[in-house]
Amino acid sequence: LPVLAVVGRPNVGKSTLVNRILGRREAVVEDKPGVTRDRVSYPAEWAGRRFTLVDTGGWEVDVAGIEARVAEQAEVAISLADAVLFVVDATVGPTATDERVVRLLRKSGKPVVLCANKVDGPRVEADAAELWSLGLGEPHPVSALHGRGTGDLLDAAMAALPTESQHGVARPGGPRRVALVGRPNVGKSSLLNKVLGTNRVVVDDVAGTTRDPVDELVELKGVPYWFVDTAGIRRRVHQTSGADFYASLRTQAAIEKAEVAVVLLDASNPLTEQDTRVIQQVIDAGRALVIAYNKWDLMDEDRRPYLEREIEKELVQIQWAPRVNISARTGWHTDRLVPAITRSLDSWDTRVPTGRLNAFLGELVAAHPHPLRGGKQPRILFATQASTRPPRFVIFASGFLEAGYRRFIERRLRETFGFEGTPISISVRVRE
Ligand code: GDP
Repeated sequence: LPVLAVVGRPNVGKSTLVNRILGRREAVVEDKPGVTRDRVSYPAEWAGRRFTLVDTGGWEVDVAGIEARVAEQAEVAISLADAVLFVVDATVGPTATDERVVRLLRKSGKPVVLCANKVDGPRVEADAAELWSLGLGEPHPVSALHGRGTGDLLDAAMAALPTESQHGVARPGGPRRVALVGRPNVGKSSLLNKVLGTNRVVVDDVAGTTRDPVDELVELKGVPYWFVDTAGIRRRVHQTSGADFYASLRTQAAIEKAEVAVVLLDASNPLTEQDTRVIQQVIDAGRALVIAYNKWDLMDEDRRPYLEREIEKELVQIQWAPRVNISARTGWHTDRLVPAITRSLDSWDTRVPTGRLNAFLGELVAAHPHPLRGGKQPRILFATQASTRPPRFVIFASGFLEAGYRRFIERRLRETFGFEGTPISISVRVRE
């Protein structure tokens, strides 16, 4: 999905605005800086358009040097966004920190929608108009607190955002893009070093080549791959507060940039909440997925079956993702990553022809009809695969299909057509 990032310095009202957009209750926001939430991205929708909303407001810590951090954080958010919602406090006007973010925004060339927040009365409206001086186009006066102006703001944001079909699909040619993700200390940089070891391809270091310096080109089994956002892996986050949030933002950036994500898990320890969150980020972003159990060298025979059972119990929902057991430290079985990546990407690219899809559904429904609801039976009329990367299916039916039945269809789709390593989505349109 296209990504809209909400960016701005602390206390301008980003979280309130995010809650407005998500239609959540106020309760999540506390009126003080330093409130940290654990998520950075949320699925959102406006006027029938779906997008991913990235919220940088969860990482607001009032400590010395905050200005530099805001800029750094904004830079990451901007790099992963397709469009940026830049929030300024109209009652305060642009500050030096705002100006700094403006420079980053200009440099990025990304579409920006300027939000003048806290416009609760006519006097402030004049202040909002002064924000034209930022050179980012029209300031949209908003009161996130009271909900005023947010509709117009979102209309403008939708106009700036590429549509879902422009996004994701159709990226022809070029090496495929791989993200190595996982919670801190799981072994990402060790694996990267192992993989880069002898395989790094020196891309023209000469000025003028268009390559993102945070990506590495690596040749594996004769095939080049981009390992994206590797600078984020190398850079150690030293700050104590907000470190997790920052890591999470980095992860989101890498995932958005990649086509396939390798999620590293520590096989020698139980799964943590952070692990499952990273996996969920990949699935929400609709990227292909490979699970790599790292630190396999630490596993002793006694604990192995126990841990495997414990970890896998939590991952039943993603049995479709290939598993690879590796040791980044010794290099053991790291060569098995490439076949798994290839399989996942192949599934991600797969298109089921409409004829085959409808034949499959016809047989399925005949053998396992939808349960009766209120004496009626919703009929499946027709289905089509709306997109690849990832595969999205649309089913037209005469009535609403229950969640359980949709999951059943997904399971059978996977059994029949494979789809190993890719999330798939099924939506239902009701036609009377
Ligand atoms: P990152 O934060 O995900 O980049 O993790 P690092 O690559 O920095 O690794 C964190 C720690 O785990 C370091 O002390 C590594 O030496 C260690 N480590 C990484 N991979 C392995 C592995 O396969 N086996 C063992 N035993 N230790 C590992």
